Amino acid sequence: MTSIPNPLASGQAIKFIEGTRIVTEWELQANNITRYHVTRFYREQITNSGYYDQLKYIVEPSVEEFESPGSLDTSGEDDNTVVPGLQHKYDQTGLLLVTDRCASYCRYCFRKRIVGKDSDEIVPDFAQVAQYIGDHPEMTNVLLSGGDPFVLSTAKLNKILDHLLPITHLESIRFGTKMVAYEPRRFEDPALSALFQRIHEAGKTAIIVTHFDHIGEISVDAEHRIRALHSLGVQFLNQSVLLAKVNDDPEILAATFAKCHQIGVRPYYLFQGRPVKGASHFQVSLRRGLDITRGINKRLSGIQKTFKYIMSHYTGKIEILDLGDDGRLYMRYHQNKAPESIGRIFSRPHVEAACWLDDLPEG
Ligand code: SF4
Repeated sequence: MTSIPNPLASGQAIKFIEGTRIVTEWELQANNITRYHVTRFYREQITNSGYYDQLKYIVEPSVEEFESPGSLDTSGEDDNTVVPGLQHKYDQTGLLLVTDRCASYCRYCFRKRIVGKDSDEIVPDFAQVAQYIGDHPEMTNVLLSGGDPFVLSTAKLNKILDHLLPITHLESIRFGTKMVAYEPRRFEDPALSALFQRIHEAGKTAIIVTHFDHIGEISVDAEHRIRALHSLGVQFLNQSVLLAKVNDDPEILAATFAKCHQIGVRPYYLFQGRPVKGASHFQVSLRRGLDITRGINKRLSGIQKTFKYIMSHYTGKIEILDLGDDGRLYMRYHQNKAPESIGRIFSRPHVEAACWLDDLPEG
Protein backbone atom coordinates (compact mmCIF):
# COMPACT_ATOMS: atom_id res chain seq x y z
CA MET A 1 0.00 0.00 0.00
CA THR A 2 1.33 3.47 -0.88
CA SER A 3 1.66 5.76 2.09
CA ILE A 4 -0.03 9.12 1.75
CA PRO A 5 2.37 11.93 2.61
CA ASN A 6 1.28 14.17 5.46
CA PRO A 7 0.68 17.63 3.98
CA LEU A 8 1.49 19.16 7.34
CA ALA A 9 4.88 17.47 7.52
CA SER A 10 7.71 19.93 7.86
CA GLY A 11 9.35 21.01 4.66
CA GLN A 12 12.86 20.92 3.31
CA ALA A 13 14.86 23.76 1.83
CA ILE A 14 15.24 23.32 -1.93
CA LYS A 15 17.39 25.48 -4.13
CA PHE A 16 15.44 26.72 -7.11
CA ILE A 17 16.79 28.90 -9.90
CA GLU A 18 14.81 31.77 -8.37
CA GLY A 19 16.12 31.15 -4.84
CA THR A 20 15.76 28.75 -1.92
CA ARG A 21 12.24 27.81 -0.87
CA ILE A 22 10.86 25.51 1.84
CA VAL A 23 8.64 22.81 0.34
CA THR A 24 7.03 19.75 1.85
CA GLU A 25 7.17 16.24 0.43
CA TRP A 26 3.43 16.56 -0.11
CA GLU A 27 3.88 19.68 -2.30
CA LEU A 28 6.55 17.93 -4.35
CA GLN A 29 4.35 14.90 -4.96
CA ALA A 30 1.13 16.83 -5.51
CA ASN A 31 2.84 18.92 -8.20
CA ASN A 32 4.72 16.01 -9.76
CA ILE A 33 8.04 17.74 -9.24
CA THR A 34 10.70 15.62 -10.91
CA ARG A 35 13.52 14.41 -8.73
CA TYR A 36 16.69 16.46 -8.92
CA HIS A 37 19.87 14.84 -10.11
CA VAL A 38 22.66 16.05 -12.37
CA THR A 39 25.83 14.16 -13.24
CA ARG A 40 29.09 15.75 -12.26
CA PHE A 41 30.18 15.50 -15.91
CA TYR A 42 27.22 17.54 -17.17
CA ARG A 43 27.50 20.10 -14.39
CA GLU A 44 31.14 20.70 -15.34
CA GLN A 45 30.33 20.69 -19.04
CA ILE A 46 27.64 23.36 -18.78
CA THR A 47 29.65 25.41 -16.29
CA ASN A 48 32.61 25.50 -18.64
CA SER A 49 30.59 25.79 -21.86
CA GLY A 50 30.11 29.55 -21.66
CA TYR A 51 26.33 28.95 -21.83
CA TYR A 52 25.52 28.20 -18.19
CA ASP A 53 22.82 30.89 -18.01
CA GLN A 54 20.86 29.03 -20.70
CA LEU A 55 21.75 25.43 -19.92
CA LYS A 56 20.96 25.65 -16.20
CA TYR A 57 17.25 25.64 -17.10
CA ILE A 58 17.60 22.10 -18.49
CA VAL A 59 18.51 20.53 -15.15
CA GLU A 60 17.99 23.04 -12.33
CA PRO A 61 14.53 23.18 -10.70
CA SER A 62 12.42 26.29 -11.09
CA VAL A 63 9.48 27.47 -8.96
CA GLU A 64 7.59 27.80 -12.26
CA GLU A 65 7.18 24.00 -12.18
CA PHE A 66 4.55 24.44 -9.45
CA GLU A 67 2.40 26.69 -11.60
CA SER A 68 2.75 25.39 -15.17
CA PRO A 69 -0.56 23.91 -16.30
CA GLY A 70 -0.92 20.93 -18.58
CA SER A 71 -1.25 17.19 -18.77
CA LEU A 72 1.08 14.36 -17.82
CA ASP A 73 0.35 12.35 -20.98
CA THR A 74 0.21 14.81 -23.87
CA SER A 75 0.71 12.26 -26.65
CA GLY A 76 -1.80 9.60 -25.58
CA GLU A 77 0.87 7.13 -24.52
CA ASP A 78 -1.53 5.27 -22.26
CA ASP A 79 -4.05 4.84 -25.09
CA ASN A 80 -1.36 3.41 -27.37
CA THR A 81 0.02 0.88 -24.91
CA VAL A 82 -0.70 -2.56 -26.30
CA VAL A 83 1.09 -4.71 -23.74
CA PRO A 84 2.67 -3.35 -20.55
CA GLY A 85 5.63 -1.13 -21.51
CA LEU A 86 5.08 -1.34 -25.30
CA GLN A 87 3.37 1.40 -27.30
CA HIS A 88 2.24 0.83 -30.88
CA LYS A 89 0.95 4.14 -32.25
CA TYR A 90 2.33 4.07 -35.79
CA ASP A 91 2.32 0.87 -37.84
CA GLN A 92 6.07 0.52 -38.37
CA THR A 93 7.29 1.54 -34.93
CA GLY A 94 7.20 0.00 -31.47
CA LEU A 95 8.19 2.08 -28.46
CA LEU A 96 9.45 0.29 -25.37
CA LEU A 97 9.74 1.92 -21.97
CA VAL A 98 12.72 -0.01 -20.62
CA THR A 99 13.51 2.03 -17.52
CA ASP A 100 12.17 4.91 -15.42
CA ARG A 101 15.65 6.26 -14.61
CA CYS A 102 17.93 8.77 -16.34
CA ALA A 103 21.49 9.89 -15.74
CA SER A 104 20.24 13.44 -14.98
CA TYR A 105 16.67 14.67 -15.03
CA CYS A 106 15.53 17.25 -17.59
CA ARG A 107 13.10 19.71 -16.04
CA TYR A 108 11.08 19.84 -19.29
CA CYS A 109 10.67 16.07 -19.66
CA PHE A 110 7.34 15.08 -21.20
CA ARG A 111 7.47 11.81 -19.26
CA LYS A 112 7.49 13.51 -15.87
CA ARG A 113 4.89 10.99 -14.79
CA ILE A 114 7.50 8.23 -15.12
CA VAL A 115 11.06 9.46 -14.79
CA GLY A 116 12.81 9.22 -11.46
CA LYS A 117 9.89 7.26 -10.02
CA ASP A 118 9.07 3.61 -9.55
CA SER A 119 6.71 3.48 -12.48
CA ASP A 120 4.46 0.59 -13.41
CA GLU A 121 4.62 1.64 -17.08
CA ILE A 122 8.01 -0.01 -17.61
CA VAL A 123 8.16 -3.33 -19.51
CA PRO A 124 7.78 -6.09 -16.91
CA ASP A 125 7.99 -8.99 -19.38
CA PHE A 126 10.08 -8.81 -22.56
CA ALA A 127 8.84 -12.23 -23.71
CA GLN A 128 5.32 -10.80 -23.87
CA VAL A 129 6.61 -7.77 -25.79
CA ALA A 130 8.46 -10.02 -28.26
CA GLN A 131 5.33 -12.12 -28.72
CA TYR A 132 3.33 -9.04 -29.68
CA ILE A 133 6.01 -7.73 -32.06
CA GLY A 134 6.38 -11.19 -33.61
CA ASP A 135 2.63 -11.16 -34.33
CA HIS A 136 2.89 -7.73 -36.01
CA PRO A 137 5.04 -7.98 -39.15
CA GLU A 138 4.23 -4.36 -40.05
CA MET A 139 6.45 -3.28 -37.14
CA THR A 140 9.90 -2.89 -38.66
CA ASN A 141 11.66 -0.90 -35.95
CA VAL A 142 11.66 -0.55 -32.21
CA LEU A 143 12.72 2.39 -30.09
CA LEU A 144 14.11 1.67 -26.65
CA SER A 145 13.19 4.61 -24.48
CA GLY A 146 12.14 5.40 -20.94
CA GLY A 147 13.91 6.94 -19.05
CA ASP A 148 17.27 6.43 -20.65
CA PRO A 149 18.11 2.90 -21.84
CA PHE A 150 21.82 3.47 -21.24
CA VAL A 151 21.34 3.72 -17.47
CA LEU A 152 20.78 -0.02 -17.73
CA SER A 153 23.83 -2.24 -17.61
CA THR A 154 25.11 -3.61 -20.91
CA ALA A 155 24.23 -7.09 -19.62
CA LYS A 156 20.60 -5.99 -19.12
CA LEU A 157 20.52 -4.42 -22.59
CA ASN A 158 21.82 -7.70 -24.01
CA LYS A 159 19.00 -9.56 -22.24
CA ILE A 160 16.48 -7.24 -23.90
CA LEU A 161 18.13 -7.89 -27.26
CA ASP A 162 17.87 -11.66 -26.65
CA HIS A 163 14.13 -11.15 -27.14
CA LEU A 164 14.26 -8.66 -30.02
CA LEU A 165 17.03 -9.87 -32.31
CA PRO A 166 15.35 -13.16 -33.34
CA ILE A 167 12.37 -11.22 -34.75
CA THR A 168 13.16 -11.30 -38.44
CA HIS A 169 10.93 -8.42 -39.56
CA LEU A 170 12.63 -5.95 -37.21
CA GLU A 171 15.08 -3.96 -39.33
CA SER A 172 16.44 -1.52 -36.81
CA ILE A 173 16.91 -1.11 -33.09
CA ARG A 174 16.86 2.51 -31.95
CA PHE A 175 18.08 3.80 -28.59
CA GLY A 176 16.68 7.16 -27.48
CA THR A 177 19.24 8.61 -25.06
CA LYS A 178 20.53 11.78 -23.51
CA MET A 179 23.42 9.85 -21.98
CA VAL A 180 25.77 11.11 -24.72
CA ALA A 181 25.25 14.58 -23.25
CA TYR A 182 24.92 13.64 -19.58
CA GLU A 183 27.63 10.96 -19.22
CA PRO A 184 29.39 10.18 -22.51
CA ARG A 185 31.91 8.00 -20.68
CA ARG A 186 29.12 5.41 -20.36
CA PHE A 187 29.97 4.59 -23.99
CA GLU A 188 33.54 3.68 -23.10
CA ASP A 189 32.22 0.34 -21.81
CA PRO A 190 34.06 -2.21 -24.01
CA ALA A 191 31.07 -4.59 -23.79
CA LEU A 192 29.03 -2.15 -25.86
CA SER A 193 31.01 -2.89 -29.02
CA ALA A 194 29.95 -6.54 -28.74
CA LEU A 195 26.35 -5.44 -28.22
CA PHE A 196 26.33 -3.34 -31.38
CA GLN A 197 28.12 -6.16 -33.22
CA ARG A 198 25.28 -8.52 -32.19
CA ILE A 199 22.71 -6.15 -33.67
CA HIS A 200 24.75 -5.92 -36.87
CA GLU A 201 25.18 -9.71 -37.13
CA ALA A 202 21.44 -10.16 -36.67
CA GLY A 203 21.06 -8.14 -39.90
CA LYS A 204 19.66 -5.07 -38.16
CA THR A 205 20.77 -1.46 -37.94
CA ALA A 206 21.67 0.06 -34.58
CA ILE A 207 20.65 3.69 -34.30
CA ILE A 208 21.39 6.00 -31.39
CA VAL A 209 19.09 8.99 -31.18
CA THR A 210 21.00 11.61 -29.24
CA HIS A 211 19.30 14.47 -27.49
CA PHE A 212 21.33 17.62 -27.83
CA ASP A 213 19.28 20.76 -27.32
CA HIS A 214 22.15 23.20 -27.38
CA ILE A 215 25.67 23.35 -28.78
CA GLY A 216 26.98 23.85 -25.24
CA GLU A 217 25.94 20.26 -24.45
CA ILE A 218 28.13 18.72 -27.15
CA SER A 219 31.29 17.95 -25.22
CA VAL A 220 34.65 16.83 -26.57
CA ASP A 221 34.02 13.47 -24.87
CA ALA A 222 30.66 13.15 -26.61
CA GLU A 223 32.26 13.85 -29.96
CA HIS A 224 34.97 11.22 -29.36
CA ARG A 225 32.44 8.59 -28.30
CA ILE A 226 30.21 9.28 -31.29
CA ARG A 227 33.13 8.94 -33.68
CA ALA A 228 34.18 5.66 -32.01
CA LEU A 229 30.66 4.24 -32.23
CA HIS A 230 30.42 5.26 -35.87
CA SER A 231 33.35 3.01 -36.61
CA LEU A 232 31.24 0.14 -35.20
CA GLY A 233 28.52 0.86 -37.74
CA VAL A 234 26.15 2.68 -35.36
CA GLN A 235 24.05 5.37 -37.04
CA PHE A 236 23.23 8.63 -35.26
CA LEU A 237 20.22 10.92 -35.32
CA ASN A 238 19.51 13.86 -33.03
CA GLN A 239 16.32 15.23 -31.61
CA SER A 240 16.00 18.56 -29.83
CA VAL A 241 13.21 20.30 -28.01
CA LEU A 242 12.54 23.99 -28.59
CA LEU A 243 12.84 25.43 -25.09
CA ALA A 244 12.20 28.95 -23.83
CA LYS A 245 15.29 30.55 -22.29
CA VAL A 246 17.47 27.60 -23.40
CA ASN A 247 17.60 27.47 -27.19
CA ASP A 248 14.84 29.75 -28.55
CA ASP A 249 17.48 31.39 -30.69
CA PRO A 250 18.17 30.55 -34.36
CA GLU A 251 21.88 31.25 -33.91
CA ILE A 252 22.18 28.63 -31.15
CA LEU A 253 20.09 25.98 -32.88
CA ALA A 254 21.81 26.47 -36.24
CA ALA A 255 25.18 26.07 -34.49
CA THR A 256 23.89 22.95 -32.69
CA PHE A 257 22.64 21.33 -35.89
CA ALA A 258 25.79 22.27 -37.84
CA LYS A 259 27.93 20.73 -35.09
CA CYS A 260 25.79 17.59 -35.11
CA HIS A 261 26.33 17.21 -38.86
CA GLN A 262 30.03 17.80 -38.47
CA ILE A 263 30.34 14.86 -36.06
CA GLY A 264 28.09 12.56 -38.08
CA VAL A 265 24.79 13.01 -36.24
CA ARG A 266 21.77 13.89 -38.39
CA PRO A 267 19.22 16.22 -36.72
CA TYR A 268 15.76 14.92 -37.54
CA TYR A 269 13.24 16.42 -35.14
CA LEU A 270 13.02 19.82 -33.51
CA PHE A 271 10.09 19.26 -31.16
CA GLN A 272 7.66 21.96 -30.20
CA GLY A 273 7.54 21.95 -26.38
CA ARG A 274 4.51 20.06 -25.09
CA PRO A 275 1.89 21.37 -22.68
CA VAL A 276 3.20 19.18 -19.89
CA LYS A 277 2.05 19.87 -16.35
CA GLY A 278 5.04 21.34 -14.57
CA ALA A 279 6.93 22.04 -17.80
CA SER A 280 4.67 24.16 -20.01
CA HIS A 281 6.67 27.25 -19.05
CA PHE A 282 9.27 25.96 -21.51
CA GLN A 283 6.84 26.36 -24.42
CA VAL A 284 7.57 28.90 -27.15
CA SER A 285 4.70 30.23 -29.29
CA LEU A 286 4.17 28.61 -32.69
CA ARG A 287 4.75 31.97 -34.37
CA ARG A 288 8.09 32.36 -32.62
CA GLY A 289 8.95 28.73 -33.40
CA LEU A 290 8.38 29.35 -37.11
CA ASP A 291 10.54 32.49 -36.99
CA ILE A 292 13.27 30.44 -35.32
CA THR A 293 13.10 27.56 -37.83
CA ARG A 294 13.29 30.06 -40.67
CA GLY A 295 16.32 31.63 -39.01
CA ILE A 296 17.96 28.22 -38.59
CA ASN A 297 17.40 27.30 -42.22
CA LYS A 298 18.88 30.60 -43.39
CA ARG A 299 22.08 29.74 -41.58
CA LEU A 300 22.47 26.12 -42.74
CA SER A 301 23.68 24.64 -46.02
CA GLY A 302 21.38 22.39 -48.04
CA ILE A 303 22.84 19.18 -46.66
CA GLN A 304 22.46 20.43 -43.09
CA LYS A 305 18.73 21.15 -43.33
CA THR A 306 17.63 17.70 -42.26
CA PHE A 307 15.33 18.57 -39.38
CA LYS A 308 11.58 18.90 -39.25
CA TYR A 309 9.79 21.20 -36.80
CA ILE A 310 7.36 18.78 -35.17
CA MET A 311 4.48 18.84 -32.73
CA SER A 312 4.13 15.37 -31.23
CA HIS A 313 0.39 15.54 -30.70
CA TYR A 314 -2.16 13.02 -29.48
CA THR A 315 -3.35 12.62 -33.09
CA GLY A 316 0.11 12.13 -34.60
CA LYS A 317 3.39 13.82 -35.43
CA ILE A 318 2.53 17.13 -37.05
CA GLU A 319 5.07 19.07 -39.07
CA ILE A 320 4.56 22.81 -38.52
CA LEU A 321 4.99 24.37 -41.95
CA ASP A 322 4.15 28.07 -42.07
CA LEU A 323 1.89 30.89 -41.10
CA GLY A 324 0.06 32.01 -44.25
CA ASP A 325 -0.88 35.55 -45.30
CA ASP A 326 -4.46 34.40 -44.74
CA GLY A 327 -3.79 34.22 -40.97
CA ARG A 328 -3.90 30.42 -40.92
CA LEU A 329 -1.25 28.08 -39.58
CA TYR A 330 -0.34 25.37 -42.10
CA MET A 331 0.67 21.91 -40.92
CA ARG A 332 1.11 18.39 -42.28
CA TYR A 333 0.82 15.00 -40.67
CA HIS A 334 4.29 13.45 -40.69
CA GLN A 335 2.90 10.44 -38.81
CA ASN A 336 -0.64 9.50 -37.98
CA LYS A 337 -2.35 6.43 -36.65
CA ALA A 338 -4.50 6.55 -39.78
CA PRO A 339 -2.08 6.06 -42.72
CA GLU A 340 -4.42 7.92 -45.12
CA SER A 341 -3.84 11.13 -43.11
CA ILE A 342 -0.05 11.03 -43.49
CA GLY A 343 1.23 13.81 -45.74
CA ARG A 344 -2.07 15.67 -45.62
CA ILE A 345 -1.67 19.44 -45.33
CA PHE A 346 -4.23 21.15 -43.14
CA SER A 347 -4.62 24.53 -41.51
CA ARG A 348 -6.27 26.24 -38.59
CA PRO A 349 -6.87 29.92 -37.84
CA HIS A 350 -3.82 31.23 -36.06
CA VAL A 351 -4.19 32.65 -32.57
CA GLU A 352 -1.48 34.88 -31.17
CA ALA A 353 0.54 33.14 -28.41
CA ALA A 354 -0.78 29.68 -29.41
CA CYS A 355 1.74 26.99 -28.49
CA TRP A 356 -0.11 23.79 -29.37
CA LEU A 357 -2.66 22.48 -31.85
CA ASP A 358 -5.34 22.55 -29.16
CA ASP A 359 -4.79 26.31 -28.75
CA LEU A 360 -5.97 26.83 -32.34
CA PRO A 361 -9.72 26.84 -33.04
CA GLU A 362 -11.11 24.42 -35.62
CA GLY A 363 -12.55 25.88 -38.75
S1 SF4 B 1 16.81 12.10 -20.41
FE1 SF4 B 1 14.94 11.94 -21.64
S2 SF4 B 1 13.54 10.68 -20.43
FE2 SF4 B 1 15.18 11.40 -19.05
S3 SF4 B 1 14.41 13.27 -18.10
FE3 SF4 B 1 15.55 13.88 -19.95
S4 SF4 B 1 14.00 14.00 -21.57
FE4 SF4 B 1 13.11 12.81 -19.87
